[in-house]
Amino acid sequence: MSQQRDVTVFYDERVLAHHPDTNMDFLPGRLDKRVRSILSGLNVQWKYPEHPGRITAIMDLLAREPIPGVRIEPGKAATPDQLRRVHTTSFLDDIFSLRDESAWLDVDTTAVSPGSVEAAEVAAGTAIAAVEAVVEGRTNSAFAMVRPPGHHAEPVRARGFCLFNNVAVAAAHAQAELGCERVLIVDWDAHHGNGTQDIFWADPDTMFFDIHRAAPFYPGSGALTDVGAGLGEGTTINVPMPGGAGDVAYLKALREILVPAADYFKPDLVLVSAGFDAHWYDLALNVSYEGFAAMTGIVQEIADKHCNGRLAMVLEGGYNTESLSHGVHAVLRALAGGTLAEPRVCGMEEVDAAIDFHKGAFEPDNTD
Ligand SMILES: [Zn+2]
Repeated sequence: MSQQRDVTVFYDERVLAHHPDTNMDFLPGRLDKRVRSILSGLNVQWKYPEHPGRITAIMDLLAREPIPGVRIEPGKAATPDQLRRVHTTSFLDDIFSLRDESAWLDVDTTAVSPGSVEAAEVAAGTAIAAVEAVVEGRTNSAFAMVRPPGHHAEPVRARGFCLFNNVAVAAAHAQAELGCERVLIVDWDAHHGNGTQDIFWADPDTMFFDIHRAAPFYPGSGALTDVGAGLGEGTTINVPMPGGAGDVAYLKALREILVPAADYFKPDLVLVSAGFDAHWYDLALNVSYEGFAAMTGIVQEIADKHCNGRLAMVLEGGYNTESLSHGVHAVLRALAGGTLAEPRVCGMEEVDAAIDFHKGAFEPDNTD
């Protein structure tokens, strides 16, 4: 990858209107009491970790350090019909009834504020906008800068900060409206994309590859032996990793599992559930900015080989705003055709230099 490529970032500031209030009462009450007693022992104000500052950190860095070839376009809201392709009508009716409300939806901390339902519609619709731009050939690649994230959202349940499954809505739209037959979804968020796996579990036309920190890390799903079922047996691929795994292991998994799987599947569209919580600042795994860039190079090569470069990324997690914004920046630079350095094991360069420096210092003195 050396020539410059067009990259379009899709961003709509309505996604900032989702900001659950953590002082609101938890449901059920007993959990509320327990959570509050734990929090009161910590000397910090607990904030909802999935907050608007995540996106503003990314967009601010992009404004401060623009990348040649990267432009920004507005997003849009998904329609109920577009959401219904992956969620049940009763689930959607429940979520829509919370418009302009504050509520906790799930004991694992998923909540809404006034503005959240529209933010979620815009997140899913903006993922659709990214896919449309790529399939219509208006841009080489696209990145939907959205929240709330989506990959934990199941057909009938909001979970893990996610309301609607944005990447699944985008994949289903590509198949229903844009003439795509086989969609590959690569999920490199630190957490397993349980919702996306659920939605496409028995679907042979959507390949789901997920590399994540293994159970019991949240949400606890994504075992190696979970490979889909029925007609979709074999099109779900899980690669669970131990805590602390980093660039070398991630790149090996992508090269030796994902690349041959993609060669077999021959996707006509490649989507990425791009989370950045595998960076070491989020304390679960050990991926570097260079690692994210190199992974981008691999999925771009897959898209170049099989589908004319059609590649769209959808933001998932990443809760340290420093590593989130710089991780996204590294990925956008890679998409725009920047040169990719092979990531090194942290400290190896320094050790090599130190070996050189000390060479000979402790050898027997031969000079008498
Ligand atoms: Zn995550």
